[in-house]
Amino acid sequence: MRTPLIAGNWKLFKTLAEATALVDELAPLISAVDDVEVVVAPVFTAISAVAKAAEKTVIKVAAQDCYWEEEGAFTGEVSPKLLKDAGCSHVIIGHSERRQYFGETEETVNRKTKAALKAGLVVLLCVGETLAERESNATFSVIKTQVSGGLAGIPASDLAHVVIAYEPVWAIGTGKTASDAQAQEVHAFIRSLVAELYSSSEADALRILYGGSVKPENVKGLMSQADIDGALVGGASLKAESFAGIVRFK
Ligand code: 13P
Repeated sequence: MRTPLIAGNWKLFKTLAEATALVDELAPLISAVDDVEVVVAPVFTAISAVAKAAEKTVIKVAAQDCYWEEEGAFTGEVSPKLLKDAGCSHVIIGHSERRQYFGETEETVNRKTKAALKAGLVVLLCVGETLAERESNATFSVIKTQVSGGLAGIPASDLAHVVIAYEPVWAIGTGKTASDAQAQEVHAFIRSLVAELYSSSEADALRILYGGSVKPENVKGLMSQADIDGALVGGASLKAESFAGIVRFK
């Protein structure tokens, strides 16, 4: 049995006051939910305040990125060790916005994933094809490259601390969700890939989230698919009502 995971990626939004207010508003709305793991990912500067606000709630905290070195002369970077220290249990790695705008490659995603796992963080490893890739029938090959690249050299014993998030780039922030069947098809492919790379028992235990215009209105259909184990939510995670509606998808 895979515990569903609903994660909110707040991207570059929310001041300290807004971020903690969102946690305060969200917590009572989801306090009755005990069979879903809930994670929010604020900007770096709000992590410790959000972690403190979330302390007595079910809400866990993720960072949106990390660096692979623990410490040193790396101006502007934040290491997994310091994220843990600030109150994170999870970290998003390889988000398509980072791949698109910040030069993230398979190699950097893999290095970051290894470092985060070593520090004891759960990694939400993001993969997903662009519209041009989907239209040229490259979806499966892109996903294969990103999944195998991200997981390269990661031992089976660490896989329990990895969650894969499938976020088709064309569905992010566009209001254009993948259909339930489109998402399920790729999720099933990712699971079969992980079975090949590791084993079917590891693949069966792996949680695979869908991301891209998830809302309270479409979450139920997505979550009813056999291989969809949760959601990585952008826009709809910025309001307590809509994010709580997604967490309470049942
Ligand atoms: P939206 O839910 O706004 O489409 O964003 C999805 C996303 O990128 C989550 O990481």
